[in-house]
Amino acid sequence: MKIQHCDTILRAAWLVTQDNDRRVIENAGVAIADGRVLAAGPWDEISSQYQGKELLPGRELLLMPGLINAHTHAPMTLFRGLADDLPLMEWLHDYVFPVEQKHTPETVRLGALLACAEMTRFGVTAFCDMHFMAAHVAEAAEQSGLRAMLGEALFGFPNPSYQTFDQGFAKAEALCETYRDHPRITPTVAPHAVYTTTPEMLERTWSLAESSNTLWVIHLAETTTETAECIEKFGARPLAYLDSIGCIGPRTMLAHGVDLNTEEMDRLAQAGATVVHCPKSNMKLASGVAPVPEMSRRGVQTALGTDGAASNNTLGMFTEMRFAALLHKAHTLDATVMDAQSVLDMATCDGARALGMTAGAGTIAPGAPADIIALDLTRPNLRPCYNPISHAVYAAEGGEVCLTMVDGEVLYKDGAFTRIDYPALLNEVRGLGAWVRQQSGRNA
Ligand SMILES: [Zn+2]
Repeated sequence: MKIQHCDTILRAAWLVTQDNDRRVIENAGVAIADGRVLAAGPWDEISSQYQGKELLPGRELLLMPGLINAHTHAPMTLFRGLADDLPLMEWLHDYVFPVEQKHTPETVRLGALLACAEMTRFGVTAFCDMHFMAAHVAEAAEQSGLRAMLGEALFGFPNPSYQTFDQGFAKAEALCETYRDHPRITPTVAPHAVYTTTPEMLERTWSLAESSNTLWVIHLAETTTETAECIEKFGARPLAYLDSIGCIGPRTMLAHGVDLNTEEMDRLAQAGATVVHCPKSNMKLASGVAPVPEMSRRGVQTALGTDGAASNNTLGMFTEMRFAALLHKAHTLDATVMDAQSVLDMATCDGARALGMTAGAGTIAPGAPADIIALDLTRPNLRPCYNPISHAVYAAEGGEVCLTMVDGEVLYKDGAFTRIDYPALLNEVRGLGAWVRQQSGRNA
């Protein structure tokens, strides 16, 4: 048989492909060329057919698709642990919004870069973000090499990014234009929530998402309080309100979806809209439990996200998968709901589909973008290994990740970032910590 040349070969003790057959292969290999997976299969086959540079030779690895964080606010890393143990509205209005008003383009960029470093280190290869000054989140994302779907957060009140909605809207338009054809950054249109916008604003954002052919991302149905306020202000529950102004369709991506009834789930399934489940943030802010098992039964497309680091307080998707799997078992008293495979699907192939990523994304299969992570299987918490999917969801913490690649490009390997000067970033972040303390009136 003729030997084919490729750029990189990875050998795995266990390979979780997440392909259409959800193949899990013991003693496997992956051949990569031009940023794409050429072949994935048993090591004997791969090593006899392909020749290339072997990355991490002689190591006992678990290879799997990079995880997809479908909802976050990257610059919020700077507020990690600033205020905890508070209900959503108090936390948001009394703690988060005031200090967020002090952001500058540079603090947004550095907070986002810290988030990118954290996600890269913990095996995330793509994330969907909503924040003001999104152009500076984009700068950080571009530097990090991660794949990112980014939207300028649009509110009906002034913030450091813009004084009027019109100005914010212009920034959203500019972002859509700038990143229309970027290989790793994809623009989105991201109105913040129904309680921070007006119907006219939402209609305009929807038109922009349609004309730019982007996702339309919003926080929705996060708490029963939001629902009650929406009924009082707009005469309808949040989803019916969005529907009444024409904002429900396949491009609709709703973060949270905690307070959804069965008719609303059916409407979302029929529309092909996505709900991004953020279990840890919902638990921490006591927002409630999103009915994800029921959504899945009714055919609603779901993805998984961490939300921002101020309400999580980490951006690691291994932890998030575990919370998703455990929360619903405890809530429904049914150990069979949200099994490890379904949760991993949400964080990989299903998340990729929901985010409109290229075909094959979220899998390790021929033709798929080589967005791959490796976990060090010699870590004590991963021994022994009978089922790597179980380990990914129930045992791994994320610190076991020893390789993160996007498009076949290594972004992180064995403690070293290739595109981020981490010691320099750490220095900047030390200074920013003192600045946040000062701005929040928490001088220690
Ligand atoms: Zn959020």
